[in-house]
Amino acid sequence: MAKELYELNEAIPVGEVPKKMYAMAIRKERYGEPKNAFKKEVIDVPEIGPDDALVLVRAAGINYNNVWAALGIPLDMVEVHAKDQNDHSGVHIGGSDASGIVYKVGANVKNVKVGDEVVVHCGMWDVNHPDIKSGKVDPIVHSSNRIWGYEVNYGSFAQFTKVQAHQCLPRPQHLDWNASAAYMLVGATAYRMLMGFPEHTVRKDDVVLVWGGAGGLGSMAIQIVRETGGKPIAVVNDPGKFDFCKSLGAVGVINRKDFDHWGMLPHWKDEAKYNEWLKGVRKFGKALWDIAGKGVNPRIVFEHPGESTIPTSCYVVDRGGMVVICAGTTGYNATVDLRYHWMHQKRLQGSHFANDEQCTAFNNLVLEKRIDPCLSKTVSFDEIGNVHQMMYENKHPHGNMVATVQLG
Ligand code: NAP
Repeated sequence: MAKELYELNEAIPVGEVPKKMYAMAIRKERYGEPKNAFKKEVIDVPEIGPDDALVLVRAAGINYNNVWAALGIPLDMVEVHAKDQNDHSGVHIGGSDASGIVYKVGANVKNVKVGDEVVVHCGMWDVNHPDIKSGKVDPIVHSSNRIWGYEVNYGSFAQFTKVQAHQCLPRPQHLDWNASAAYMLVGATAYRMLMGFPEHTVRKDDVVLVWGGAGGLGSMAIQIVRETGGKPIAVVNDPGKFDFCKSLGAVGVINRKDFDHWGMLPHWKDEAKYNEWLKGVRKFGKALWDIAGKGVNPRIVFEHPGESTIPTSCYVVDRGGMVVICAGTTGYNATVDLRYHWMHQKRLQGSHFANDEQCTAFNNLVLEKRIDPCLSKTVSFDEIGNVHQMMYENKHPHGNMVATVQLG
């Protein structure tokens, strides 16, 4: 018979599910700086439904989404759980990446069984919706899509996590538990951005501009471009990150601190300011040509900083090229000079996480040892708030961070 609660360093026999678990919880009254927002609490182990799996978490990946959850902006996640899922627990248990062991499965589950070692992707949707079952709608575009461990409660910052069984994929056996938890959210997101929008998938020799090349998304994007034969050019804020980006396959790296034209586009009627901006963006374009060759523009720009960089991205992307964006870390106002946009037939494409096929395709690249998860820092369960704080302050190390959860 399972104990009521196990310690984090205590072995939990496979398949034995306790009533209670330790979780790193965010509550409304703690919204604010991540270092104070997370607190270790004892809560009930969640019940699972017929299409779900309960996974014992060995390690949990750290992602930017739970910086947002800690701050309580742009969404109040406790409210979201209450309104969207009728979950009035008053806690947000984040964590959108995990490696672990399946401890329980629902009646309809066929793809995993108790004892399987898995990594978990964070895409959830109504698996029984007719439009999803029939393949009419891409599930990650469907209105029922939610991100586990952000929009849906009981993510991986806890001893057990409740997931839909289709989220479970085989764990790479050449990696340890920590490295296995490091890559899926950022990797699958980057994979969809670069491979999910025909005709703008990466082709041999395509130049791809990657913002934040040393970050979570960027480190995965550089490697995917390398593996698909393209030429990644990274942007970072410090020459100390150049070697890291080059080691992943970047053919060149640009220091964004060498430029100062960032932010929203000046109004086109304000000629003086607009011309000043043009000077700045042309200087950036020249830095790109110094690496790619004169006249060679990026066919794809991999965007996520948003407000501060999107005018530049839309300007430098090649005629007929695509700027693909999955976030607005610096703000949400996208200002674009439409004259260049239509005349040069450019595409500005939104993207959000990935579907099962894209997660599997990316996981296969890791299983085949073609992509390194770029695990740079592993911390204990108690340090989860502090590493989100580092991320919030953009002081985190290159690549991806992970917290070890259940040791036994
Ligand atoms: P990360 O590891 O913190 O990397 C972000 C990078 O952005 C940093 O390394 C930084 O690089 C760069 N950056 C920061 N401020 C910048 C600025 N003002 N201008 C240009 N670059 C800047 O975070 P991440 O995991 O890659 O995630 C990045 C964003 O994407 C977050 O907002 C996250 O929530 C979002 N995201 C969305 C999805 C989705 O599915 N929609 C999935 C994953 C992540 P330098 O300072 O070196 O330039």
